[in-house]
Amino acid sequence: MSRYVSKRLSRIEAYTPGEQPQDKKYIKLNTNESPYPASPKVVEAVSADAVARLRLYCDPECKKLTQALAGLYGVGEKNIFLSNGSDDILNFAFMAYGESGVAYADITYGFYPVFAELHGITPTVIPLKEDFSLDVEGFKNQNKLVVIANPNAPTGMEISLSDIESIVLSNPNSVVVIDEAYVDFGGTSAIPLTKKYDNLLVCQTYSKSRSMAGARLGYAVGNEALIADLNKIKYSTNPYNVNTLTQLAGVAAVEDNDYYLGNAQKIIATRVYVIGALEQLGFEVLPSKANFIFARSPKISGLELYLKLKERGVLIRHFEKARIKDFNRITIGSQQEMEIFISKVTEILGE
Ligand code: PMP
Repeated sequence: MSRYVSKRLSRIEAYTPGEQPQDKKYIKLNTNESPYPASPKVVEAVSADAVARLRLYCDPECKKLTQALAGLYGVGEKNIFLSNGSDDILNFAFMAYGESGVAYADITYGFYPVFAELHGITPTVIPLKEDFSLDVEGFKNQNKLVVIANPNAPTGMEISLSDIESIVLSNPNSVVVIDEAYVDFGGTSAIPLTKKYDNLLVCQTYSKSRSMAGARLGYAVGNEALIADLNKIKYSTNPYNVNTLTQLAGVAAVEDNDYYLGNAQKIIATRVYVIGALEQLGFEVLPSKANFIFARSPKISGLELYLKLKERGVLIRHFEKARIKDFNRITIGSQQEMEIFISKVTEILGE
């Protein structure tokens, strides 16, 4: 870093995204992308004509996309906020609601501590229980911003809507953010609860179930006043946060929602296969409601398995953090990709 940078920024440890290697073709099971392509309707929407119109600024209100999502979830247009990936929403939420601190789990999405540090917010870290389930009681009466990934990452485990409701009710003077990046793979969304509670903000993404990680599109659903807060930050930083092509693709994706629900079902079926196959190989696999699984083997360390698979052209995600260093997070790819993955794991364990 330069010698001009502020002390606070120089201390921050930035988020490390999963590898996006360009050197050779891997079976990529490391960043929870979808193995399935965008819907043909999305491909059609991003036309040459649309590209030619890029000389104009995009619609800062994302009107058509807002209408489409409001229709999909049965909420008002003022209950929807669009952003450049859901990371942007999380960033804004930390900025808007973190004045009294923030509570999140010890094992959860690695960006939360980065946002806390970036905005100078004091974190309260609530350890997951021994079995890696969320300590619901621990999140009650925090009276500060609460951020929960549900299903959680990298565990894939879910808490119930009644647990979410009890956390929201016990924190009446602060905002609870439920990060539902992985909800479409068998989880239950808290979006309906946003009609009942003015301190609940739910965010979702097009990056996983909707095969659009590269387009950068996320959205939040919540009470009108919360959405107005997020808009205030957006219009104070970057009003054009969702580009024209992404807005067009986003509308087309909502119009072809069944295509994506079908893909999510395929991923769930493949997940059942992978869990069964890994368990047969002696792995412990946490119960997953996501498009990834979190697994460890008594026969090989997490790091060694990650490295040996990489040598064989398969990328998975390993985290150095002490409590989870025995595990690997494995994205559920296509059935064919996962059969190759299982055969490589079998080969490695047999060595
Ligand atoms: N939340 C969680 C739990 C995630 O794993 C991710 C993906 N890294 C995100 C949010 C952000 O996704 P995106 O910015 O692509 O919408």
